[in-house]
Amino acid sequence: MEDDYTNSLEEALRASVVPGDGDVESGLRPKNLDDFIGQPRVREQLKLVLESAIQRGSAPDHILMSGPPGLGKTSLAMIIATELGTALRMTSGPALERAGDLAAMLSNLVEGDVLFIDEIHRMARPAEEMLYLAMEDFRVDVIVGKGPGATSIPLDVAPFTLVGATTRSGALTGPLRDRFGFTAHMDFYDPSELELVLTRSARILGVDLQGKAAHEIARRSRGTPRIANRLLRRVRDYAEVRADGIVTVDVARAALAVYDVDEVGLDRLDRAVLGALVRGFNGGPVGVSTLAVAVGEEPGTVEEVCEPFLVRAGMIARTPRGRVATAAAWEHLGLTPPEGLLYGSLEVRAVEPAAESG
Ligand code: ADP
Repeated sequence: MEDDYTNSLEEALRASVVPGDGDVESGLRPKNLDDFIGQPRVREQLKLVLESAIQRGSAPDHILMSGPPGLGKTSLAMIIATELGTALRMTSGPALERAGDLAAMLSNLVEGDVLFIDEIHRMARPAEEMLYLAMEDFRVDVIVGKGPGATSIPLDVAPFTLVGATTRSGALTGPLRDRFGFTAHMDFYDPSELELVLTRSARILGVDLQGKAAHEIARRSRGTPRIANRLLRRVRDYAEVRADGIVTVDVARAALAVYDVDEVGLDRLDRAVLGALVRGFNGGPVGVSTLAVAVGEEPGTVEEVCEPFLVRAGMIARTPRGRVATAAAWEHLGLTPPEGLLYGSLEVRAVEPAAESG
């Protein structure tokens, strides 16, 4: 059961990567900080952390990156190692089921290495407890044997930098969060930034992407570079098969319609969630697990993959009693919002109180 859940969440988190596109995706990754588009604050903060560590000649503090899938956390981890001129070791929270798995990983580190743990909030408890000591004192206690005869053998770990990535920073335990010296909060990208991502990727892939088409794809990429790159590849397929290979704005629009990407970039699952919330629960409030059952998905998928963008787009509001559809959600589905709906579009909220109290 737990495994099923883990596997299906894993799939969902990777859902935006079409099988067979993996190699292409790695070719599109930015290689250094200057190549990395957008996230100006994170880039500036990270630059300071890395440059000062290089000047001091020591490993930088441990770094945590949080944000929805596909925003560039893995790419940044790779960039950190490149900028430091060190090796990167990669693993993920679900792979660290036992403390021994982590001990093996840690004991193989060489001084200055960057250890990247993706989905760090899903690490098993014993491994997490071992990690505290490793992060703070660069040592681990390996327990050998069981019961009263068990002994603890201390092992030194080479000074390393941990880079953790999480789609749910709230799920991280306090002690683990406290041990990171710097947290990078990754936010959705602006369409103008995604246009730059698309232009760069088109250059690498050798796709003839016209400016207006880049603008159209960027606008419908849910603020996410991974989705922008995926849509570019699908639009390219369409251009090659049904047109003359050139991605014009008309080709882009036609291709996006085939792949079920709507005007604002919502995909099938986003629309199913909105539809269930509005039609099935009359706009809410409803708990995220109930909503997930209604669309036949795991709660983790709805919460970590769909919801952040729907909240950002102003279509869903999180309230203490559950999720609520805003007026924008009703309108997006072509429905009239019920009267007296508390959660409107931003314009409605900004105008109403001022007019009343005026
Ligand atoms: P995450 O680890 O947050 O899920 P990734 O680092 O795997 O995201 O990024 C997914 C893909 O999106 C990468 O292969 C890369 O091509 C692209 N990408 C992400 N961020 C950027 C960026 N800032 N500039 C250019 N491409 C990016």
